[in-house]
Order: sequence, then structure tokens, then C-alpha cells
Amino acid sequence: DAGMAGCAEQVLSVLEAHGHEAYWVGGCVRDELMGRSVNDMDITTSARPDEVTRLFERTVPTGIEHGTVTVLVGDYAFEVTTYRVEGSYENHRRPAEVAFVRNLSEDLRRRDFTMNAIACDRQGRFVDPYHGEDDIRKGIIRCVGEARVRFQEDALRMVRCIRFASVFGYRIAFNTWKGLLLERDGIQYIALERIWAELDKMMEGPHPYLGLSLLGRSRLLEKARVPFTSAAVDGFLSRIGDIPSKETAVRWALLMLACGLSGQEAGNLMRQYTFSNDARERVEALLYLDEEVKELSRDTHLREQWVGLVLKYGQETVRRWLLLCSVLPQENRGTAADELLAHGLDWMDEMKIFHLHELQIGGSDLIAISGKRGGPWVGELLKQLLFKAAAGMLPNTKLDLTEEVRRVMVTDEKG
Ligand code: ATP
Ligand code: MG
Repeated sequence: DAGMAGCAEQVLSVLEAHGHEAYWVGGCVRDELMGRSVNDMDITTSARPDEVTRLFERTVPTGIEHGTVTVLVGDYAFEVTTYRVEGSYENHRRPAEVAFVRNLSEDLRRRDFTMNAIACDRQGRFVDPYHGEDDIRKGIIRCVGEARVRFQEDALRMVRCIRFASVFGYRIAFNTWKGLLLERDGIQYIALERIWAELDKMMEGPHPYLGLSLLGRSRLLEKARVPFTSAAVDGFLSRIGDIPSKETAVRWALLMLACGLSGQEAGNLMRQYTFSNDARERVEALLYLDEEVKELSRDTHLREQWVGLVLKYGQETVRRWLLLCSVLPQENRGTAADELLAHGLDWMDEMKIFHLHELQIGGSDLIAISGKRGGPWVGELLKQLLFKAAAGMLPNTKLDLTEEVRRVMVTDEKG
């Protein structure tokens, strides 16, 4: 994004003009070297947070105690962080205090992986003391410094390691992997939502199975209260990459199924992990629908039952479920699944109506026709009419629907 780069350059040049050092650093430099698109640019500087705040008109003290000030230029926001080292690490948590330093190489040393420890100045010159560029070229994730120590300092780095390997399709350096295996128990001290945020990025990436199988092989998550065992990975997930990456809900639903979770259990878990309501509800709906489909038998009324499910869950969820079902192993599909995979989409496309508001008759019509007082029966009858119209058993016209209502009323009175 040329606009963003231009605005970031302004930030660098203002800092430099006032005698400070300033560099692009971290993810944006790495992504640029990889030829990936860059969507945010972090800046590291020798200027202290109060100096940064004074130099720019629009700033937000986002994480000022950690040295981070957000600087707004044009339509863009940049995190400008003072060179720092982190204080003592207690119990594998992030350090409580940080110390500002005046030297870039100390700042780079505290970063997690060599590919994330590269700085770049305004002239495009790299500062790369840990040879991150070589590792990018070779496709290797490698800790800066001694892997065990770095994972002891911050256990989240282990999940990040696997996340980066997964998203980029990279290998993990031997010593880094060995360190991870030795330090994996530390993960129990890390807040669940931070783990989950990393998994989320992994699940959106191009090779989620790579990351999931690394997680399974490392047994990293067994101490993280995630019901995610190596058996789940081996059994079930190998086709997760066949689900398009934009269909994250379907990927998550497959993972939940592999972990043996019901819709309700998955919902509870996702609530604990601070998923957005939307994201959680999409996954829940898929699992609930899957549970209902597994109850269906391949009898002659399968089509009608399917229409009922389409009305209940909506076309989007049903489409996603077909995708989910198509990657499930045979033994994990219900008995009706094959037929639904073969005909479900056609049956849905043949439906003429999907929502109550499309029905050519409404609640007040029912009350007028019947002469009865309103009540729960109105909603129930409307639903029946919707079902019949959707299943093609009844044309969706006022005349046909009115006749049907009269017929139903008469039957009711007889019965
Ligand atoms: P993404 O593309 O996901 O944003 P990123 O590398 O930019 O990847 P961020 O979490 O945005 O990741 O962190 C920015 C930079 O901060 C990293 O590139 C790395 O240099 C440093 N960093 C982030 N988290 C850690 C950590 N847990 N330990 C050490 N350094 C870290
Ligand atoms: Mg980033």
C-alpha cells in the first residue's frame, strides 16, 4: 500500500529530523521480504514515548507504559514503540515492567524469531543481526538466541512458532523445535484468549493442517485446557485445507467435531476464548445442524426434512454444512449424508420461499379468516404454511394459502 508506506515514511523522517533513530520493524519488514501484502506497519525508535507524543499532532497512548504510542497520519495508524528490553519474566507471563534502551540491537534481541527481528530504515537498509533474511530465504522459523530460554520467558512464543510455521508453510529449526518440546508445559500459564488469537490466525491461513499436526505432535496444547489431542489431529483433520480459508467457521467446526465436542460444548469453549458472537454462532449453528442431520434416516421424507432444516438454519449455514460434511470421513457422517450431499443443493435451489415475510399471507389474515383471537397458534400455523409453500406442497398465493387455512381450521374443529 503506497499510501500507507508514504505516511509511515513521514513518521520516520519527523523522528529523524529531531535527532532520533527510527526504523520499520517486525511483521511488516518480514512480510515485505516474503513478498506478502503488508497491512500494518510498526515503527521502532530511540525516542521516548513522551518525545514521540510531543512530535506528532494526533497520537494515542495505546500502551505507553510499554513504550507504545499510536501515531495517526492521514488515514493510517502506526504503532511507534521505543527501543526497549523486557524486565524479569515471572511464571512464564509477559514481564510486568519494561526498560527503555537507546540501542536498536538490544531491542531486536528481545524479539521472538529471527524473521521478526529485522529493522529497515527509510533508505531501505536492513539491520539484521540474527540473519532473519537468510531464514526467510530458507523458510525456517528460528528463535532469536537460546530457544529454551526464550520459551521460558514467554510461553506464548511456542504457539506463535507453530502459527508462523503453519501460515508461511515454513519448517521449524531443529533447536527451536527441541526447545519447544522441552518447555511445552509452560503453556499452562498463558491466558486462553491469547492462545486462541494465535490459533485463529493459523486457522485462517493456507495450511491449517500443517499447524494442527505440529500442535498434535508437540502435544503443546494438552496442558492448555484445549480438548485438542494428537488423536484428534490424526483421525479427522487431514482435509481441513480443502475448506477454503475464507470459510473459517467451517474449519473451526471441523476442528470442534474432531475434538469430539457437541455444539453446546463448542459454544461454551468459544465463549471462554472470547470469540466474537458472530463467529461463535456460525460455528454453533453448523454443529447443531450436523447433530440434527445425524438423527435423520434415509426414508422417503428426506427431502421434506431437509426443507425444514433449510428454513430453520438458513441457506448460508446449510451451504456451509454441505462443505463440512463433504470433508468428513464416511464413518463420521450420518446415514442420510450421502444423499444430502448428492441432492441437498438442488433441493434447496428448488425451494420457492425461505422466510415468513415472503409468505403471501400474514398473522392478521389468519385471525380475520378464523374469527379467533390471536395467540401462539398464529405463529405455529404460519410456520406450517411456510413449510408447505417451501416444500412445494402448496403454491405461495393468497388464494391457495387462504383455502389451506380454512381446510386446517375445519379439520381442527372436527378433531
Ligand atoms: P502478524 O503478521 O500476525 O501481525 P507480527 O510478527 O507482526 O505478525 P505481532 O504480534 O504484530 O506479530 O508483533 C509485532 C512484532 O513484535 C513481532 O514481529 C515481533 O518482533 C515482536 N513480538 C510480538 N510478540 C512477541 C513475543 N511474544 N515475544 C517476542 N517478540 C514478540
Ligand atoms: Mg503485526
